[in-house]
Amino acid sequence: MEWVWGLAVALVSAAGAAFVTATVQSVKISVSERKLEALLKASNRYTIIWKSDLSYIHVNDALRNRLYSLGRNPDANFILSIFGNEKTVDNFTPSALLVAALNENGVDSVFSAAEGENCYVKWRSETVEVKKTVVLIISEGIDETEMRYVKSELYEQRRRNYITEENFDMAMESAEIGIIYISVDELPRVEISEGGKKMLGFSDNEELMLDDLARKVYSVDLNSYQIKLKNLLSGISDTLEAEIKLLIKNNDYHSFMLKWRGVKDESGNVTRITGAFIDVTNQRERYNLYDGASLVDPMSGLLNRRGFMDKGSALLSAIDEVGGNAVMSSIKIERMMKINSIFGNDMWERLIKCYAEGLVKFSSEKTVIGRLGTDDFALIMGCKEPRRDIERLTKELLLFLENSCNDNILPANLKDQVRFDAGVCVYDGVDDVQTLYYKANIMLYASDDIGKEVCHYYDDSVEKKIHDRELIEYEIVSALKHSEFELYYQPKISFKTGEIIGAEALIRWNHPKRGLIQPYEFIPIAEDVGIIMKIDEWGLRQACNQNKYWQIKGYKPIKVSVNISKVQLYKTDIVKTIKHTLMESNLDPKYFEVEITETMAVQDIEHTIDMLRNIKKLGVSVSMDDFGTGYSSLSAIKQLPIDVLKVDRSLIYDICENPASEKIAQAIIEMGKAMKFRVVAEGVETQEQWDILQRLGYDEAQGYFHGKPLATADLERQFFMQ
Ligand code: C2E
Ligand code: MG
Ligand code: MG
Repeated sequence: MEWVWGLAVALVSAAGAAFVTATVQSVKISVSERKLEALLKASNRYTIIWKSDLSYIHVNDALRNRLYSLGRNPDANFILSIFGNEKTVDNFTPSALLVAALNENGVDSVFSAAEGENCYVKWRSETVEVKKTVVLIISEGIDETEMRYVKSELYEQRRRNYITEENFDMAMESAEIGIIYISVDELPRVEISEGGKKMLGFSDNEELMLDDLARKVYSVDLNSYQIKLKNLLSGISDTLEAEIKLLIKNNDYHSFMLKWRGVKDESGNVTRITGAFIDVTNQRERYNLYDGASLVDPMSGLLNRRGFMDKGSALLSAIDEVGGNAVMSSIKIERMMKINSIFGNDMWERLIKCYAEGLVKFSSEKTVIGRLGTDDFALIMGCKEPRRDIERLTKELLLFLENSCNDNILPANLKDQVRFDAGVCVYDGVDDVQTLYYKANIMLYASDDIGKEVCHYYDDSVEKKIHDRELIEYEIVSALKHSEFELYYQPKISFKTGEIIGAEALIRWNHPKRGLIQPYEFIPIAEDVGIIMKIDEWGLRQACNQNKYWQIKGYKPIKVSVNISKVQLYKTDIVKTIKHTLMESNLDPKYFEVEITETMAVQDIEHTIDMLRNIKKLGVSVSMDDFGTGYSSLSAIKQLPIDVLKVDRSLIYDICENPASEKIAQAIIEMGKAMKFRVVAEGVETQEQWDILQRLGYDEAQGYFHGKPLATADLERQFFMQ
């Protein structure tokens, strides 16, 4: 379920791996809402989403709970205490607040905790969206209290000169710090300091691989650990900071804080990783005490994640003993961020409590219920007929929520918005709680694509699809390094001469196992993973060099065009990159063209106009791709400084059979000529289409009639060497 209200902006997580959506009152952001929330949920860190004028502040559960334990509220004063430089709500300026927050070294803050302790948090912030003078910001904080304590202890000891190497090792051990070193090659090897090995229950001379370490990770933390590690190994992130549970030798899990850093060689590849891990179980337990009970979520009164997993396992064992059915459901409130922003924090809490009440009320006695994330609930229900019973429960829950929208409990005008999705997995007598939860969640994750029903039943083909996608996500990061991308070139033919006049560079992925992968299969994933910028930069360079090379070989000069992605247009200094690439390749700019789509261009039309003007100043021409498929073709055309219209193939394909299509093609060329554009027809597949378009006065044709996208050698053979 993705909702777009006009302006769409992708929010890039600090790790660069997840892309997300949030919608905030009057600020319209489109991304997948679910992913932002997943990011917040997955994060062990503290997260704040806020506006620079402080009209909106949202904090994640981890921070909310911590603040409550310190007797603080997540309000404007709290933000000012971090970034406000001693200003108050009456005299702060949003711009100064923003500058302070975006400090590239991060911002350190101190809060006084119970019993005179200090709580140290390091914040890093990123801009999500700018709307006039108001900026939406995401700030992530890492609690460094424990780390600082350990550091200061060691420093103090060293300062007093007590420390010999042996003492230092002992100090590390007693501080429960492990040092880790990973050499990054085909099979990354892991070296761990002696004390660290002891902590994790490895023997002294045991040879360790990365997988040995992964096997120690608690299953709930495994996914986020692997994503972070993947990002570190591939160089997407410079550091890995996480708090995860690891299995220690006596079959018990301890919480560890990881702080690792990737070390790169001259060409930017990560060659080794160094860092530390600290056992923070004591601190974690102290922290859990603030919640009253470490297994209970304080806001809803339901079990928290740990409690749910523990009690859920016990319930399954009991069901196994007596025989019977059970069903797991993962329930997610729809559009929570938006509801929170419109109706405020208080209402948000009330809604969470209503869900908790409804779930308890309508589930059978043999049910374990938990609140596992900001707006995620899960239940395992012992029952007779899993499908019938879970559907009854969700129907009753929905009715209960709607009836609660009566202006006494919840606002009446929330009635149409109290929606949720339920991923459901029926217990097969084999899976454990974690696996059941994972399977139910997979269906929640996929529910965007699989229809409107409330209950989405586990289906292994959906899991496979997601798994395949994840595999591509994983592999695409190294594809660039392993030179697996290739540009194909599709000729553009002049209607006047019938000869090649240009070519569009179209990327292909030569996958070592899957063969040739088309862009529609991996470009959206590359955008999600955050690697599209690097791929596009590579494509730009490759296309310029190739075109120059053809000229050096003495072929007739042609104009080569490349496709620019949304991310490149909005998140990079594309003008500088093009300028630099042209200089490096020594290609005359008149032989280079960029293609942007209208949908991309209108997301922030002012920005695009600015950008395109600067690109044109370099002498490069600009083409509007897929013309006719967007919403506001004419108004965009009027404003954007473009040279070429590329008419989409959906307007060309039935031009011979459908007189209306021919009329539209005619109207476009007349308009294009009046605006002095070069007009290119995409998807020309037949002689008849060519004849009609030639008669109408089109300038160029690109399509299978003259040639599919070709590898360079084939293009040379078929179009240059005649
Ligand atoms: P596009 O820029 O509109 O590219 C034209 C697409 O139409 C190409 O698909 C091309 O193979 C296809 N095509 C051309 N003539 C015909 C025809 O006569 N019949 C049919 N059925 N199809 C035809 P392709 O190569 O699969 O590329 C798809 C899209 O992927 C491109 O659409 C472009 O938006 C994107 N893309 C391709 N390469 C890159 C790249 O290097 N970077 C970025 N950011 N996007 C790229
Ligand atoms: Mg194109
Ligand atoms: Mg196109």
